[in-house]
Amino acid sequence: MHDLIDSHSHLDVEDFDPDRDAVVQRARDAGVARQIVPAIAQSGWNRLAAVCRQFTGLYPAYGLHPLFLAQHQPSHLDELDHIIEREQPVAVGECGLDHHIEGLDPSSQLDYFEAQLKLAGQHDLPLIIHTRQALDGVTACIRRHAPLRGVVHSFSGSLQQAQQLWKLGFCIGIGGPVTYERARRLREIVAHMPIEFLLLETDSPDQPMHGYQGQRNEPALLPQVLACVAALRGESEASVAAATCANAVRLFRLD
Ligand SMILES: [Zn+2]
Repeated sequence: MHDLIDSHSHLDVEDFDPDRDAVVQRARDAGVARQIVPAIAQSGWNRLAAVCRQFTGLYPAYGLHPLFLAQHQPSHLDELDHIIEREQPVAVGECGLDHHIEGLDPSSQLDYFEAQLKLAGQHDLPLIIHTRQALDGVTACIRRHAPLRGVVHSFSGSLQQAQQLWKLGFCIGIGGPVTYERARRLREIVAHMPIEFLLLETDSPDQPMHGYQGQRNEPALLPQVLACVAALRGESEASVAAATCANAVRLFRLD
């Protein structure tokens, strides 16, 4: 068993209400004693704080997720500043740009994203970034607000796009999608990329691994991502576990 950190788990969402204790325990039993739990919308921040206080090893990030744009209000950005001050989270997020889903006004998304980049800079915190079909826009924003640090979670871009993120000091988060053989481009990147920019994640309860389609994902399954990444790289699970764990500790400044 290897010591792992799930760098992206939504353990606070109601999917886990019936059995959250057991889910956390199964994760610990699998070596996943620590999880980064990013926020979705302002309405969930207090609940997220409560869940992370309830379990040691759960670290919150606060932010406004682009998919929930309809719920966000400009006043939430001031509130975000305050909750960061009060709760001292490990990151700002989940934030970003999503041009995959129709009806999410791109210019409004951009306003919220840039405001959160500024907050991360002001509070010297890393960013947890979500993006679909908007990676170049995300990279341009990061560059405009540099220096920043963070992770683009569930990375699905090209090698060139990944390289641009690494140049800016950003990590990429790798989870369930890498376990699918059809994810050729992603697997190729993961096989050869510099390990210092790689974080492991489950994105629980979403993005189930190969063989678990249609099921609720959970952090206890992170060792399967580890096994897949280690096999693709031709390295031992122990060395990939140690390196990715150290990356998460460094990025999120964990103890
Ligand atoms: Zn997420």
